[in-house]
Amino acid sequence: MILPQAIDVVAMPEYFSPSQIGGMDFCLLRAILASTEVKVPHLLLHPAAELGTVFHRLLEMSIRGQLPVSEGVAEQVVRGALESLLTEATDRLREDVAKCHYADLAGTVTPLEWRRRVRTVVDTAIRMARFQALPAPAPRGSLHYPDLPGTGPWTEVGIQVPKLRLKGRMDVVERSGKKVVVRDLKTGRVTDDEGEILPLIISQMTLYGIMLASFDHGGISLVVDSAEEIHIPFCPAKIRKAEAEWDEFLGKIPLKGAECRAEKIAKVAEDCPKCSNRHVCRAYLAAAPKKWAETPEYRIPYDTWGTVLKVLRNGPDNSAVILEDAAGRLVKVTGLRDSNVAGVEAGQMIWLFNLNTSDRSAFRNGKWHHPVNFHEIPEGLVDRRAWNLDVYRKG
Ligand code: SF4
Repeated sequence: MILPQAIDVVAMPEYFSPSQIGGMDFCLLRAILASTEVKVPHLLLHPAAELGTVFHRLLEMSIRGQLPVSEGVAEQVVRGALESLLTEATDRLREDVAKCHYADLAGTVTPLEWRRRVRTVVDTAIRMARFQALPAPAPRGSLHYPDLPGTGPWTEVGIQVPKLRLKGRMDVVERSGKKVVVRDLKTGRVTDDEGEILPLIISQMTLYGIMLASFDHGGISLVVDSAEEIHIPFCPAKIRKAEAEWDEFLGKIPLKGAECRAEKIAKVAEDCPKCSNRHVCRAYLAAAPKKWAETPEYRIPYDTWGTVLKVLRNGPDNSAVILEDAAGRLVKVTGLRDSNVAGVEAGQMIWLFNLNTSDRSAFRNGKWHHPVNFHEIPEGLVDRRAWNLDVYRKG
C-alpha cells in the first residue's frame, strides 16, 4: 500500500466524545480525528478490538433481555449466543482481505487467555441478565437521555450537552427517581498492574458524569462493569474539579468549524501507541525518529520506517527486511507475511506500523528504549504476533 498523504489541516468538530478522549491531558488532534464528524484513514484494527466488539454485543443482548436465560441453562444459552456471534465475526473477517489472517479470533490469543476471557464474558453476561426482569428497553440507539421515560434500566442511551461540547452514548443507564447510575461495559483490561483502575477509564466516566450533572439529579453513580462492578468515586468536589478542568480545556480550543494546523494541535506522547492515525500524523512522523534515539518515560509505538537495505525471502510467510531507519539505525524485521513484502525492494522507503518485538530490555531503568529488532510472526510460542501490522511504501 502507498502511504496516504499526511493531514495538514483539520476543522474543529462541534462535539467531542468522552470515549475517544484519553484523559484531560490528551492529544487534541487525536480527539478530533476520532470524532465521527471527521473521516480519515485508519491503521488496521487489532483482533482484540474485533473480539471486544463481539463480547460487547453479547453483553448488550443479555442486558436487553434477548437471551432466554433461566435457572440451570444460563451458561448453555450464553455460550450458544457467543458461539453464533463468533461465527458471524469469523465469516465477516474472512471476506476482508486485510483481516482474513485473524478471522479465527480464538487463535489470536493463547488457549489459556482465551478460556479466561470467555469465562469472564460469560459470567458477566449471566450477571447482566438480571436486567431482563425490568421494563423492556427501546430499540437499539433510539434513546436520548432527556427523553428517558421514567424509572428503569435503559441501554445505548445517547447524550449531548452543547455547553460542554460533549456527545456520547452510554451503555446502560439506570434511573430511579432523581438518582441515576451509568454503567460502562468493558470487556478488555480495566486495571493496571497494581490493580488500580486505568486513568483513561476514570476520565471517560468522569466526563459522562459531568454531562449528567448538567441535568437535575439527586445522585450520580458511575460504574464500570467488567468481571466485577467497579464504582468510580464521583462526589460534588470531584464534579467541580472535573468541570473546572473541562472548562479550562474548552477555553483553549477554537469554535466549531475553525480550521487548525494539525501539527500545532498534535501532542506526541503517551496517546500515540493507541492512536490509529499515526501514519497520517505529520507531527508523529517527524518526532518519532528523534524519540527512537532517546529514552522517553512513555512507550513509543512499535513502528519503524526508513530505506530498505535488503529483503530476505526465507520461505512462505517468512521474509525479513533489513533497513536503515529514519534515525540512522540498522533495524531488522522478521517473520513477515508474503503479502506484506510483495514488491518491496532494496532502495525503497517503507513504513511499518504496529510491529511487535521479542526484545525484553525495551523497558529498563524506568525508560523506554525503542528496539531495533521487530517481528510480525514470532519465532517462538512465547512472543505475540503483530496481528495488525500495516506496511506502506512511498507513492
Ligand atoms: S499520532 Fe500521536 S500526536 Fe499524532 S494524532 Fe495520534 S496521538 Fe496525536
